[in-house]
Amino acid sequence: MKHISHIGIAVSDLDAGIALYQKLGFTLEAIEEVPSQKVKVAFFPCGNTRLELLAPTSEDSPIAKFIEKRGEGIQHLAFAVDDLPASLTEMEEQGVQLIDKEPRPGAHGAQIAFLHPRSTGGVLIELCREKDGGH
Ligand code: ZN
Repeated sequence: MKHISHIGIAVSDLDAGIALYQKLGFTLEAIEEVPSQKVKVAFFPCGNTRLELLAPTSEDSPIAKFIEKRGEGIQHLAFAVDDLPASLTEMEEQGVQLIDKEPRPGAHGAQIAFLHPRSTGGVLIELCREKDGGH
């Protein structure tokens, strides 16, 4: 685990979320739709980390389900790793339950995989191999 790649924050209304974080002093870097996750993502850089506002684009989006159950707020923490397949193997060897056994494409050209919150104390953790290899 190298550093926090990003913090995923679930919002029901992306424009309202963007306006809020701009008010808090952050600068919007980009907006990207990730069809595989049925989300629209707004990126706010913060040092070598980013805040990612995640808004559902459909009712069966994982983010829509999250908001329905728990309301808006922090949804996941993503840690940057150098070698995602190796990290996943290591996690499995440690007895950590994986949601994704194989890396899959995430926002920003990254490869990502989620660990199951059941085996990580209720925190949804994402491992993220950033496109540029990290900062
Ligand atoms: Zn993420």
